[in-house]
Amino acid sequence: MNKLSIDDIELKDKRVLVRVDFNVPLDENRNITDDKRITASLPTINKIIKDGGKAILMSHLGRPKGERKPEFSLEPVVKRLSELLNKEIIFSNDCIGDDTKLLINNMQPSDVILLENLRFHKEEEQNDPGFAKALSEFGDIYVNDAFGTAHRAHASTEGITKFISPCVAGYLMEKELDYLGSKLENPGRPYCAILGGVKISGKIDVIKNLLGKVDTLLIGGGMAFTFFKAQGKEIGTSILEKDKIDLAKEILKSIENSSTKLFLPIDVVTADKFSNESAFQTVTAENIPPTQMGLDIGPETVKLFSQQIIGSKTIVWNGPMGVFEFKNFANGTFSVANALKEATDNGSITIVGGGDSAAAIKEAGLEDNVSHVSTGGGASLEFLEGKLLPGVEALTSK
Ligand code: AMP
Repeated sequence: MNKLSIDDIELKDKRVLVRVDFNVPLDENRNITDDKRITASLPTINKIIKDGGKAILMSHLGRPKGERKPEFSLEPVVKRLSELLNKEIIFSNDCIGDDTKLLINNMQPSDVILLENLRFHKEEEQNDPGFAKALSEFGDIYVNDAFGTAHRAHASTEGITKFISPCVAGYLMEKELDYLGSKLENPGRPYCAILGGVKISGKIDVIKNLLGKVDTLLIGGGMAFTFFKAQGKEIGTSILEKDKIDLAKEILKSIENSSTKLFLPIDVVTADKFSNESAFQTVTAENIPPTQMGLDIGPETVKLFSQQIIGSKTIVWNGPMGVFEFKNFANGTFSVANALKEATDNGSITIVGGGDSAAAIKEAGLEDNVSHVSTGGGASLEFLEGKLLPGVEALTSK
């Protein structure tokens, strides 16, 4: 990594302003239903505590759209974070202002304070320089550990870096950049990418960027049907992006002319209706009945994809192979998760992009059996598209 990291600087007695990603899911009683994002930030927070720095944590939660809305308060995080660190956490009711300043001025070394939701102020998402400057004045050092928002140029992720120095990566950010950056720039080969999900449009830039870089590209999920259509196959009532058929044809042509080998499903699990209760059957990709829709890859495809995955040294996965939210159509997605586990056991590097694939690997109970599960859906996708993330670019270079 060519950016400074938290290991490169002295933290003792310093006010360390940390952008974390505590955008956790909450149930109707405001209980945290998944604390992965909090636990993922603990190594950085613990390092600051251990070194005698003062940790000032700032985050967003949900989309309050610039208004103070109690349902988006970060207060539920305080209790959980306090339990995890076994330490009292000071909570500031606002992320800027005199009261916050006073709380920060009274901090002792190794104290931890969490500021209220940054997005209660519209200036955060507007990347307002005045707001960014006001935030920056609370710290001597800035740490970005919020990979999940690094693709957004907001006041707390990008604007702030113009007013404070040094700006360094936290451990979580470093880990994400190591896996999605360095390890994929110099991959062990064969290098295999698996793409799924419903829309080609969402993954088109990823496909373009991976062409010629990956040795094998496995495409499953709803978007396979637009490729089938582009090949002239009948797809019944399967999901189709009509306006992307020409694009799919173009991609198929570019793949043919590249060093990347493409694998599409050879069989499909189909149903009459988009429902877990619908009767289902397996058909070959050439024989999808006109009244049926494909909701998962079939067992022969599972075999084919698993062979490719297990035979690769570097594997990156983004997007489910079918409607994994329905039990009857989850087999393809969970089988890919299992193949990733096997590849990891064999010493391969396996990386799961955030979002739906991260949810699927968790549901399969295998999130600890792969090399890395990204905490950022959108950010990891933009990384795979070869884009520079503003929150990363803004950090101090080595
Ligand atoms: P995306 O947001 O593009 O990654 O798509 C994720 C969604 O794709 C998941 O919610 C899946 O249920 C859905 N999906 C995957 N395969 C299919 C399919 N064959 N038909 C309809 N939806 C699908």
